[in-house]
Amino acid sequence: MLRDVVQHPLGALASYASDPSTSQGRLHPQAAALTRNEFQRDRDRVIHSTAFRRLVYKTQVFLNHEGDLFRTRLTHSLEVAQIGRSIARNLGLHEDLVEAVALAHDLGHTPFGHAGQDALNEAMRQHVSDHADTLVDGLGFEHNLQSLRVVDTLERSYPEFDGLNLSFETREGVLKHCALSHARRLEAQRPNDVGARFINKTSPSLEAQLCNLADEIAYNAHDVDDGVRSGLIDFEQLQSVPLVLTYANEAKRAFPHLLGRRLLAETIRRILTAQVFDVTAQTRQNIQDAGVATVDDVRALPSDLVGFSSAMRRESIVLKQFLFANLYRHPQVAEMTATAKGVVTDLFAAYLAAPDMMDTSAPKASTVQRSVSDYIAGMTDRFAMREHARITGEDVFGAGATLRPHG
Ligand code: MG
Repeated sequence: MLRDVVQHPLGALASYASDPSTSQGRLHPQAAALTRNEFQRDRDRVIHSTAFRRLVYKTQVFLNHEGDLFRTRLTHSLEVAQIGRSIARNLGLHEDLVEAVALAHDLGHTPFGHAGQDALNEAMRQHVSDHADTLVDGLGFEHNLQSLRVVDTLERSYPEFDGLNLSFETREGVLKHCALSHARRLEAQRPNDVGARFINKTSPSLEAQLCNLADEIAYNAHDVDDGVRSGLIDFEQLQSVPLVLTYANEAKRAFPHLLGRRLLAETIRRILTAQVFDVTAQTRQNIQDAGVATVDDVRALPSDLVGFSSAMRRESIVLKQFLFANLYRHPQVAEMTATAKGVVTDLFAAYLAAPDMMDTSAPKASTVQRSVSDYIAGMTDRFAMREHARITGEDVFGAGATLRPHG
């Protein structure tokens, strides 16, 4: 097993890796940078963006006011980049591209995690069905599309173009999922762009595929950590999940006196290592079996080459099912989710009725609904709460809802 995961010769890029010198280019052509490759440049633009800075005050699962020791979208994105780069180096993939995609992948997330996205999507769709005869873009709200919208349009700090003008390869990774109807609209606006693969049923680069899986590895691990530390799930209960039991036992065998926080941390560390090794070995095998030599060969395939072994995939599904049942649907989380949805729904209605209340310099989108959606999606959790309190006069979250991390 270890032989299968040892590092690719240092610095060597595999033939199937993405190559910045043969990038498919930017929406607005630009001369090459003097000292940086195109993917480094993308990564740097993401780090300096407004949307990236806001990730620090956006929630992953928990609301931000619940405690300062839990993950936010920013720390989540950094963890995805770490896991992605680690695997990329071993497979000879382009680390800068992986990092650029990982750091940008959640830029389009609303405040309040998935609750915010669901509420915004419902509000946009409600409008579509109520006003089918009016000109609405019909896209609802979807965070992957919004991440693309942030990097293509909404960031406004460059003199010659809107957005960050990232390379095709980074944008391809940012749009990791896309409904067929949305892909068709993207394709109609800009043919042969990042929507095309969802219509043609082909694959993105290996770096993009890797970020997708690194995202999943990161959130499963940190949701276990935050879940236990919040007191919403307990470590004993978690050991009904075979993946957790295996590595908790391994940690206890290696360190018989390990308890509490350190045992949890060591267990999670071992799960992460096992998953990174598993993905590396399995993906290397898949690449060999598929016989791909170039990134074009990768893109022509109907399915991903980056993946877990079937055994690890099964184990990962059981862990996810546990987290759904015990954490994401925990009554305390569900209560806050409902409150958060109400906040987003109220804000949408308020701005739609009085668009001048939006304190934004962004030019108007194609519809007022889209402008409202962009404005709300860009908010941090605490800004959304403050705006809601200011507009409605209600403090819906109250001071008593705070969860304290255990250990
Ligand atoms: Mg993510």
